[in-house]
Amino acid sequence: MSSMISVEDFDTQVVRWLEDHRSVAPRDYGAILPPDLVAPGQAWQRAIFEAGFAGIHWPVEAGGQGLTPAHTGVWIRACAHAQVPPFLNMVGNVLTAGALLTFGTPVQQREHLPSILDGSQVWCQLFSEPNAGSDLAGLSTRAVLDGQQWTVDGQKVWCSNGRVADRGILLARTDGTAKPHRGISFFLVDMHAPGVTARALRQMNGGTDFDEVFFDAVRIDADQMVGPIHEGWSVAMGALTNERGYIGASGISMQRRLDAMIAHSEALDVVELDALMALWIRGTALWAMGQRQGPVASVLASIAKLGTTELMFDSAVFRSATQGADAMLSGPVTDGLLSAPGARIAGGTSQIQRNIIAERILGLPK
Ligand SMILES: Cc1cc2nc3c(=O)[nH]c(=O)nc-3n(C[C@H](O)[C@H](O)[C@H](O)COP(=O)(O)OP(=O)(O)OC[C@H]3O[C@@H](n4cnc5c(N)ncnc54)[C@H](O)[C@@H]3O)c2cc1C
Repeated sequence: MSSMISVEDFDTQVVRWLEDHRSVAPRDYGAILPPDLVAPGQAWQRAIFEAGFAGIHWPVEAGGQGLTPAHTGVWIRACAHAQVPPFLNMVGNVLTAGALLTFGTPVQQREHLPSILDGSQVWCQLFSEPNAGSDLAGLSTRAVLDGQQWTVDGQKVWCSNGRVADRGILLARTDGTAKPHRGISFFLVDMHAPGVTARALRQMNGGTDFDEVFFDAVRIDADQMVGPIHEGWSVAMGALTNERGYIGASGISMQRRLDAMIAHSEALDVVELDALMALWIRGTALWAMGQRQGPVASVLASIAKLGTTELMFDSAVFRSATQGADAMLSGPVTDGLLSAPGARIAGGTSQIQRNIIAERILGLPK
């Protein structure tokens, strides 16, 4: 039996490979693949896959490398330092893959995991609706079984990558009579199927990264349901914890950004320096907590998600405040300021994270 590569040797291997290949990577775009970077993003995922760095801690039978979450942590950290994306997009590589590895049948895993690993299919997440965001259990998109297929009707919103996605993970109500959390199922949907329409939404930073998606009598084969019927809520909650864990892990890039700010701090006065130090200390504390948690999400994911996105927001405000009038013009500082509020909302708002921390970690009453 071959022995597993040590975390230290893997680190050396990863750093060397990234040094040799980072020039062909797209810029580090974060969790959401920008629509104009789909082709370079897919080529980058293909290169990662061919080099043996895709699915690092997934089992070998699922096409992964059979290593540990600590090895994945090394990869994510090294990519953050090299300023390259660690994979094509979070929905495919973290959320969908996580749901399939935990709840998917072997047939579903064989059908979908290879194209996530090599980047040939882009995935999107179809959870939120116009009247169901924080209160996701109130969703009203409906799936009705008709023979061997489900028929889906309804509307989703804020779907990142919807227009460019090949497939999506979809929550739909399959039992209208049960309690809200009980009557929901989790589906894998073909975004090119007849009846699926995605329309771009304009954000305040000028981008169109997410869409509203309409389902009009869309047919989904019965074998594309993940987990038991009416119990999609547990599958979705596992996916959302993974999402928060991953967003929290971006503390690495945050610390890099804070280090860069310190490198250019000569022009600041003492009051501004004091504020900068406070941000830097928060970033360092989050980074240290991330080290203790490791790359696999847990209930701590809510603290990491809240801490990281609030820090990103405060840092963006600080950067624009210390830029003076220039911050009113277009440029990276303004882009950062206009994009930062979205991160406090995506993946569960800051208020919802505080509720989770209060109720599930601190044991406070509802
Ligand atoms: C950049 C971005 C990308 C996204 N990508 C996707 C995606 O790919 N797929 C997808 O399905 N969704 C996506 N979303 C949607 C996101 O999950 C929702 O926006 C989020 O869950 C909040 O829901 P909402 O917008 O309906 O706000 P609401 O739930 O209506 O909340 C409005 C306000 O009320 C507060 N609030 C609500 N309930 C409570 C409560 N119980 N206690 C305290 N305060 C409360 C909220 O914190 C918020 O401030 C994305 C959002 C953003 C910003």
